[in-house]
Amino acid sequence: MNSNSKALVLLSGGQDSSTVLFWAKKKFAQVESIGFNYGQKHKLELEVASGIATIAKVNYYIAEISTLPDVSKNALTSSAIDVEKGVKSDAPPNTLVEGRNLLFLTYAAIYAKKKHVNNLVMGVGQTDYSGYPDCRNEFIQSAQQTISLATDFEFSIHTPLMWKNKAETWQLADELGVLNIIRENTLTCYNGIIADGCGKCPACILRKRGLDEYLDSTIS
Ligand code: ZN
Repeated sequence: MNSNSKALVLLSGGQDSSTVLFWAKKKFAQVESIGFNYGQKHKLELEVASGIATIAKVNYYIAEISTLPDVSKNALTSSAIDVEKGVKSDAPPNTLVEGRNLLFLTYAAIYAKKKHVNNLVMGVGQTDYSGYPDCRNEFIQSAQQTISLATDFEFSIHTPLMWKNKAETWQLADELGVLNIIRENTLTCYNGIIADGCGKCPACILRKRGLDEYLDSTIS
């Protein structure tokens, strides 16, 4: 089989990465997924991702990178820090783990090259840009070049959600026939509550706003 038809999806078990997993299943003949144990508070995240991979019938590999420097401890990795309430626009949220996607992509690239997989798929996007610099298209383009040069292997990084807002991401899940699977089996909530979540943290607020917007648009 041509190696171009293989893809590795970076899967966190959230709405976005889970949706692109099913997108990848439609686009590529062979799909695998990879997750990262980076010392996050909610180990549930890895179980949820594993569950989604099982539903999608793809292999899920967990890379152990639980040695992020202490300076990067934040609300996602430290129990001592609470997630900030509400959505603010002037500064990155305290859920930012500096350089996380670059780290993830590097691990993913090493793993993918070993398996002769050229395509990496990520659920990042800059439409609902929440202050994460490593979700921007400019970063992804740069990372694609860097990991290709670093490994002497031609990688393509696919980001089907780059220009989609949350409502459009729900629409994509619906078009892929997995809206309920995504709604009921993914974890987006910063407080570690599966499916519709706590309803109060920034991630839940964005997720619900998008879902309501999409569901409303299908009624009218
Ligand atoms: Zn929440």
